[in-house]
Amino acid sequence: MKSRLCPFSALIFAMLLITLSVSCSHPQQASSEAVAKVEPTETARGPAPTQSAGIPANPAINDSQPDIDGNHVMQYVKEVVAFGPRPPGSSGHAKLEQYILSKLTGVDVEQDKFTAQTPAGTFPINNIIAKFPGKKDGIIVVAGHYDTNYPLPKTYVGANDGGSTTALLLALADHFRGKQLNGYSVWLVWTDGEEAFVKWTDTDSLYGTRQLAQKWQQDGTAKKVKALILVDMIGDADLDIQRDTNSTPWLTDVVSQAATDLGYQSHFFQQTIAIEDDHIPFAKIGVPVVDLIDFDYGYNNVFHHTPEDTIDKLSPQSLAITGNVVLRTIQLLDAR
Ligand SMILES: [Zn+2]
Repeated sequence: MKSRLCPFSALIFAMLLITLSVSCSHPQQASSEAVAKVEPTETARGPAPTQSAGIPANPAINDSQPDIDGNHVMQYVKEVVAFGPRPPGSSGHAKLEQYILSKLTGVDVEQDKFTAQTPAGTFPINNIIAKFPGKKDGIIVVAGHYDTNYPLPKTYVGANDGGSTTALLLALADHFRGKQLNGYSVWLVWTDGEEAFVKWTDTDSLYGTRQLAQKWQQDGTAKKVKALILVDMIGDADLDIQRDTNSTPWLTDVVSQAATDLGYQSHFFQQTIAIEDDHIPFAKIGVPVVDLIDFDYGYNNVFHHTPEDTIDKLSPQSLAITGNVVLRTIQLLDAR
């Protein structure tokens, strides 16, 4: 599904909503993220909101200045992509699991392993959770999937879809390692089995997060999660992250303020779409969620789920922008 905003003026916005599916959308193969509609956002049609209810007025960017180095993240992307395709059960996936764990020495790590029943058979799934304790009572989760689509040609490496977020979470782990967090605890979750095995449906997708949300609901963790920030496909050199109608509005507003604080607002929320992604199982159990996804990867999203999803389409700047907006969002949440 197409996600770029058609070049129509706000004046014909009402008409746009009616005609969009004809004039701007194109038939597309089943994708891992279903897009229902595209419409301009408030921020696209007027000044960016400077403050939302409950958000303190521009708390200082203080001693934990967002400082993600895009080249550092890009180096991780290169190393992740070098493992080749990484669907569950593959040798590339097994190597990547060990690679992620090797980067988390000295960190409190939990592995949430189980066997998934899929239309293509049974597969091992492993959500990897790195926990960084904070002083405030509550948890902020930053999540992104590390599996790649299944099955695809051997040339598929998922540099953006899987690679970029695996790498960004590794860089965030480097950021939080050894720091005393004065705010909420931060848990980084490398989710597994996000992709469909045959065709995207409610039951053939989101294997890892459906399991983890159920587990967190049962063991009481879900109640402690103040926010879940999901990142997906955030390395595109042409970064335009859409506002997702399946995300929690107030949390999306906090991200918008974070982007504005850092001067990155032009990369965020110029379009609105509806995304099915790893945040959905948590939204269903009442966790505030936001999905930061650029579902406009190449013209008409043409690189998505193809062997064209390669590292030359990414940029260190995009990786840094997303990482720093995530960090600034955490600062704003800590200050609430
Ligand atoms: Zn995908």
